[in-house]
Amino acid sequence: MVPVFQKMRLLGCGLLPHEPGAARGRIIAYFRRYPMTLIEGAELQVVSGIGEWARRVRELRVQFGWWIYSGVTLREQAIEAPEAVSEMLQELGVRLDQIRVDHYVLMRPDQDRDAAHRWHLINSIRKRKGGVKPKFLAFFRENVGKPVALEELRYLAGDKSEWARRVRELRTEEGWPIYTRMQGRPDLPVGSYVLDEDKQAPEHDRHIPDDVRIAVLERDEFSCRVCGWKRVNLHPDDPRKFLELHHIEHHVAGGLNTVDNLVTLCNVHHDQVHADKINLPEYFEAKS
Ligand SMILES: [Zn+2]
Ligand SMILES: [Zn+2]
Repeated sequence: MVPVFQKMRLLGCGLLPHEPGAARGRIIAYFRRYPMTLIEGAELQVVSGIGEWARRVRELRVQFGWWIYSGVTLREQAIEAPEAVSEMLQELGVRLDQIRVDHYVLMRPDQDRDAAHRWHLINSIRKRKGGVKPKFLAFFRENVGKPVALEELRYLAGDKSEWARRVRELRTEEGWPIYTRMQGRPDLPVGSYVLDEDKQAPEHDRHIPDDVRIAVLERDEFSCRVCGWKRVNLHPDDPRKFLELHHIEHHVAGGLNTVDNLVTLCNVHHDQVHADKINLPEYFEAKS
């Protein structure tokens, strides 16, 4: 292994000869030279010439917005978003069982330009007292409608293992519209989370488990059951901005969290249903 590493070190130093001290610069130069390629931690150690290379990789991801996915992220997301991850792995030409935790890959050539701003925000929220959930909520509410990265949440949570569950609780129990590729926003990249709207679902539409939410959205083909609006129809002049799930028999009145008792509605028709301008059972009766 040693001769190989020496070659790589030469390559690493050769990439940016005028910045021999900038380990981070050498790491990203290496990633950009080999995009869409699995890179091992050992390679990055050699290329960077420092022991703290993992921290530099995280900075590139979180602080500078480079789309570097780690093996940890890919494996974690293989459970959360299996289809999306299998697409990514196909592009990379590898199988999940070939991915190790110390693997890294640069998936996109561009940088997320808002990352630096979020990085400052994360660090100020991180210092606050209190649990992970209120910190997450504060971070999301500062970024309404803008995707944030899984690595940012993990860092904000202080690397606690249960961080993903806290996000799920905000969505399923407290009714915050925080979505991923799998929970209603198939347009999002793997590992991105977004708070769609700075508004909790009304009390009667909370406590919807993720598997039920996905089944309802899929049955309704991610479109409003009254007007057929989909997210791809998003337009600045159109008041329809979000898809929401509505309990036909209200949950607080004993209605069940079953697929049959839930419908997908756009925000406009959801409001109309609650203003009694549309009677859903009659509406569906007349349509069928
Ligand atoms: Zn509608
Ligand atoms: Zn409702």
